Amino acid sequence: MCSVMEVCHLRTGRWEQKPTTGNPPLGVKSYAAAAIGREIFYFGGHCNHDGCFHNSLYSFNVDTFNWKELSPTTSHHGPMMKHLCDMIAIKVNGEDYLVVIGGYGPSSYNTSQQPGAQYYEAEGLASGHRQCNEIHFYKLSTGQWISPTVTGDRPPPIDKFTLTSINDSSAILFGGSIADGDSNNVYILNFTDTSVNCSMLSNPGGSVQWPRKRG
Ligand SMILES: [Zn+2]
Repeated sequence: MCSVMEVCHLRTGRWEQKPTTGNPPLGVKSYAAAAIGREIFYFGGHCNHDGCFHNSLYSFNVDTFNWKELSPTTSHHGPMMKHLCDMIAIKVNGEDYLVVIGGYGPSSYNTSQQPGAQYYEAEGLASGHRQCNEIHFYKLSTGQWISPTVTGDRPPPIDKFTLTSINDSSAILFGGSIADGDSNNVYILNFTDTSVNCSMLSNPGGSVQWPRKRG
């Protein structure tokens, strides 16, 4: 992440570098981003410093080009410091929330584990690092991190998947890297303001067309 934004003018296809103001999350990569209205939100990521992971949340306003830190990197609250997670925006009962799912980060110097979530330290991963299947909500109007009740087929610890909104209160999660390797499972996620229900669809095999496993 740097302090200039790359802007593509869709009508002309021309790219422009524009300076920004405020407090950008400099240096992070493999963060998660989601937009609500005129704001783009950025969560977490990894610096090039060894073992330097973040759980901060920033907003960037596309009219003012100003950055704001909403929630700092800290071991005291929220999702673990991680990267390769994903984030979407949902709207329930007129309230905006960001939803952060999964990801990968160090087990030391991190937040305490989320009740109900699983953490997996794979052999191929850097030692002391783990994948998780945390699900957190961030309520924009109050700035609070919330742990929802999770029912149904909760995805396993996972990173490098896609998470895409279907409508204001549902989303689809596909693929990713899990304990067994890469996945091609699909999860449909349905949200309320305090819960998420997950249903898994897997490749029925035979002559059915299904995307390949990928993470
Ligand atoms: Zn760093």
